[in-house]
Amino acid sequence: MINKKIEDALNEQINAEMWSAYLYLSMSLHFEHEGRPGMANWYRVQFQEEQAHALALMDYLNARDGKVVLAPIAAVPETWESPKDAFLATLEHEQKVTALINNLYALAEEEKDFATRQKLNTFVAEQVEEEDNVRQILDDLNLIGNDGTGLYQLDRELGARTFVAPTL
Ligand code: MG
Repeated sequence: MINKKIEDALNEQINAEMWSAYLYLSMSLHFEHEGRPGMANWYRVQFQEEQAHALALMDYLNARDGKVVLAPIAAVPETWESPKDAFLATLEHEQKVTALINNLYALAEEEKDFATRQKLNTFVAEQVEEEDNVRQILDDLNLIGNDGTGLYQLDRELGARTFVAPTL
């Protein structure tokens, strides 16, 4: 049986991952509306990844005989000024998620819940990748500036991303 503190913290993380999914779905719809189908695709894949994170934590909590509680998902923004604005918001958001995962990891250590700590290792690694991916796109956006051709090419590139279920 899982300790109540860990159960509550995992449920909070599940809600945070669902909020992330909702945020990226909103960004995907925003770019669809703005006529940037590649960015819309990139964020749609991001939406799927966040759902996979949430589901993996739900499966884990169930496996530990805990109770998954689906709390309401808070509202998300609907528009962003520019692609750079959206990707910057994404980086900031992922940095917050990294902090949440680190806090959860520290709690698992404090509570001597070694199974949860081990489970979180994949999430720690996943966050390094998430931040790195967004940073690379931001580097490209900084190089491109307001160049239309550059933005068109980046959009085409981001359109090629496909969802690969993460191993969690
Ligand atoms: Mg996530």
